[in-house]
Amino acid sequence: MPQPLITLQELAESLHNCQRCPLAKLGRSQVVFGVGNPHASVMFVGEAPGFHEDQKGEPFVGAAGQLLNDLLQSAGLSRADIYIANVIKCRPPNNRDPEPQEVETCKPFLLQQIALIKPKLVCSLGNWATQTLLERKVGITRVRGQAFYLKEFVLFPLLHPAAALHQGSMLQPLREDFQKLKEFLDRHSQSTAAKDSASSSVPHALQSEPASSTAQQMDLFGS
Ligand code: SF4
Repeated sequence: MPQPLITLQELAESLHNCQRCPLAKLGRSQVVFGVGNPHASVMFVGEAPGFHEDQKGEPFVGAAGQLLNDLLQSAGLSRADIYIANVIKCRPPNNRDPEPQEVETCKPFLLQQIALIKPKLVCSLGNWATQTLLERKVGITRVRGQAFYLKEFVLFPLLHPAAALHQGSMLQPLREDFQKLKEFLDRHSQSTAAKDSASSSVPHALQSEPASSTAQQMDLFGS
C-alpha cells in the first residue's frame, strides 16, 4: 500500500484532467473520482463509471445507485456512512470491460484513496474490483459474501448491483450477500461492545482478526 503524501482532495484535484491511460481520449465526460465520507470505516469499490456516473461525476447513480442504496439500507448502512469509488475513474466506451493496461494505470489511485480514507472494511463489487484488490484471478461467485483479512483492511466481496439489473436471477443472491455483510458487521459490533463500554461501531469492530478467516483465505488460494 503506497503511503499517501497528499490529502484526498489534493489527489482528486491531481486527477481532474488525468491523461495517463487511453480512456482519457475515448469519450469520457469527466473523471469520476469518488464520493462519500472521507473518514468512512466502510468503503465500496465498483468497476468503472457508466453513462449516468460519467454525466454526473459520481459513482453509483441511476438505477444501479438506487439499488445500491436499498441494499445498503438492508445492511444497516447509508451513503452518509460510506465512501464509494471505482477501480477505473473514467468511463470505458459503451461500458466495455476495462483493459488490463487501464486497470494497472488507474489502480494506484484507488490504493491511494484507500490509504487516505483508511477504511477498516472494503466491499468490492463484482469481479473486477475483487480481483484488483485481492490481486488474484478468482471468480466473484467463489468468494462473494466472505471476509478476507488483508494487510491493511478486511475485504468483503459482493456481487455487483448492475449484474442484478441485467440478470434478474442475480437479485436474490445479491440481497443474500448484503445480508451476510450485515451479519458480519453485527457480529463484530457485538464482540466489540463486550470490550468497549462506548457505543459499538464499525471502526472499532473491525480491529480484530479472527484466525479462522485467515485460514479460509489460505484454503481458497492454496497458499
Ligand atoms: S481511467 Fe484513471 S488513469 Fe485512465 S485517464 Fe482516467 S483517471 Fe487517468
